[in-house]
Amino acid sequence: MTEEPLLTVRDLKKHYPLKAGLLNRQVGAARAVDGISFDIYPGETLGLVGESGCGKSTAATSIMRLEEPTEGEVIFNGGGRAGATRNADGSHPNDITGFNRKELKKFRRHAQMIFQDPASSFNPRMTVGSAVAEMLLVHGMTDKERRRTIVQNLLERVGLSAEDYDRYPHEFSGGQKQRVALARALVLNPDFIVADEPVSALDVSIKAEVLSLMNELQEEFGLAMLFISHDMSTIAKVCDRVAVMYLGEIVEIGETETLFENPQHPYTEALLSAIPTPDPRTRSEGIELKGTVPSPTNPPSGCRFHTRCHRVIQPSSVDIEQEDWRALLNFRDRVQMGAIDLESIRENALGAVDSETTVEASELKTQIRTEFDLPEQLADTDADTTLDEALDVLANDNVEDAVELLTTKFVTPCEETKPQYTEHSTDHRSACLLHEDADASVELVADDD
Ligand code: SF4
Repeated sequence: MTEEPLLTVRDLKKHYPLKAGLLNRQVGAARAVDGISFDIYPGETLGLVGESGCGKSTAATSIMRLEEPTEGEVIFNGGGRAGATRNADGSHPNDITGFNRKELKKFRRHAQMIFQDPASSFNPRMTVGSAVAEMLLVHGMTDKERRRTIVQNLLERVGLSAEDYDRYPHEFSGGQKQRVALARALVLNPDFIVADEPVSALDVSIKAEVLSLMNELQEEFGLAMLFISHDMSTIAKVCDRVAVMYLGEIVEIGETETLFENPQHPYTEALLSAIPTPDPRTRSEGIELKGTVPSPTNPPSGCRFHTRCHRVIQPSSVDIEQEDWRALLNFRDRVQMGAIDLESIRENALGAVDSETTVEASELKTQIRTEFDLPEQLADTDADTTLDEALDVLANDNVEDAVELLTTKFVTPCEETKPQYTEHSTDHRSACLLHEDADASVELVADDD
């Protein structure tokens, strides 16, 4: 795309400090958003998708400056600000992270947000009409009758009636409240809307109606939209492009059709595999992400998805079935975390051999393999010998030596190297070592102008 983006986000970060001790010193940070970059063009909808807790809502509130970003730029070229160039010191006059109060108020006139739960954003003692009209008053429209006329027209446009102006929020259903929220977001005629899970609390039939209304309104008002959802099937209905977010980072971005037909990142692949299909003949098996779910306070080294990835790469010294490799890494991580409960595994082994006395080391080892989905024998003899030695020392309650053996032999390149973006086609990138080669790697960098 050659036109100027309406919104440019570059290396945006939002870290929350973690404090501890008597002096309340900072001991770390939760990296909710950790360096995301993307553009949104006029009239376009970009979907931001990922599991709950991946940082997508924090990204939204940071972009809207409802909370202060830690680092990065959010350049907004709407509201009459198009065509601005960078200042001599490299800063951008349209970077909202540097806006003062007055500029921020003006920005909020042109950029609005819709939340998942509209009920909580309405005052129960104010009629919905007054709640929508208040936006006009705040931004300087003093003529009460004019405000009423504009709001009544808008209520009709979102599928309600002019008489609804004088009704209170509790008189509306969830879907109707979301329509009022849409009217409120549109009343100032914005250029840009952030919709954070706007339909996830609605029933399926109502959801479809609200989504179709949003599509219509977007076209009619020429809006650009950042649409946040955890649900790929919702994203498919409304978004022109999709950015997939995992643990504070964007791992893949591309046009919706391309990304759905040809996902390049294993995480995107897993999200797509979870979409239910009505026809049992075409139903694919969902990819189950086994492994440790990491925390943004301590993100994994290298590729952040390596603790759960079903395609996690084997080192050149290991050659086994991919699912055994995943199981082996899961086992290694659990041992390393001290999360192996040998007592309960012994009890389970007792049940398995129907014995009331002691469990032989060999039985315990077999039981551990069973409980961690490890086969009786790995296809690679060397790898199996190391695993067997680790199980031996573990059966003797020597966790430390087991950790040493497992973490020396079984290391994935994915935990050692951070993947860069690889460009697959125009506007389609993903960050995974499986695709990386020196010529294809690209990094999203800020435009110079
Ligand atoms: S880099 Fe490795 S762990 Fe990360 S997505 Fe690619 S294969 Fe999976």
